[in-house]
Amino acid sequence: MTSTANPSQVLEFQCQCGAIQGAVHETAPPTGRRLVCHCNDCQAFAHYLGKEKLMLDDHAGTHVYQMDSSKFTINKGQDQLACVTVTGGPLLRWYCATCKTPIANTLSSTRFAFLSLILSGFDRGKTDALLGREVEHVAIPSGVGELGKVRTANMPGMLWNLLVRTIKARFNPELKKSPLFDDTTGKPLAVPVKLEPAERLAIDEKADIYREVLAEIK
Ligand SMILES: [Zn+2]
Ligand SMILES: [Zn+2]
Repeated sequence: MTSTANPSQVLEFQCQCGAIQGAVHETAPPTGRRLVCHCNDCQAFAHYLGKEKLMLDDHAGTHVYQMDSSKFTINKGQDQLACVTVTGGPLLRWYCATCKTPIANTLSSTRFAFLSLILSGFDRGKTDALLGREVEHVAIPSGVGELGKVRTANMPGMLWNLLVRTIKARFNPELKKSPLFDDTTGKPLAVPVKLEPAERLAIDEKADIYREVLAEIK
């Protein structure tokens, strides 16, 4: 097998304070999926960071790109990485410890070899050019406003992608690489913050108010 298939294209990432810098290296056509997730946990993450205006669209959706973790690199500021679990479960939500720019969501192990890159910090035009414009929606009932006509994500298709990635990564350790995990130990580069139940409750109240305001101003 040769590696001449498609030229790699680059989408640069920088957090708001500039401490963390990295890039997405994608092929043409892109192999990931653009999703908009309207779920309460993604909204809770935005409110936890105080970045709801940056992260959430008019329908309280978070735009992400589900991709191979090895195609995202961080070349500066790995010591500034922080992560939180908003449910206490295995989903880690990554951000810059200093400026709270969201970065990505991952599982707590590199076994699945994928990450959901949060697109709010990227240039929109470049994002569309490199990752394609086709977007699918997830968790529509938790969104705000009219979402009846949007394209919904096909769950069996998503699971199939995940399965294929996991199997490929089992035979090719290069694919398990992630800039958010230690290559040798496979452990996350930051200790996950766990929200206290009272903290999560307060965030959910804030999210409720934010949804009401979004619905009102539409
Ligand atoms: Zn930063
Ligand atoms: Zn979500």
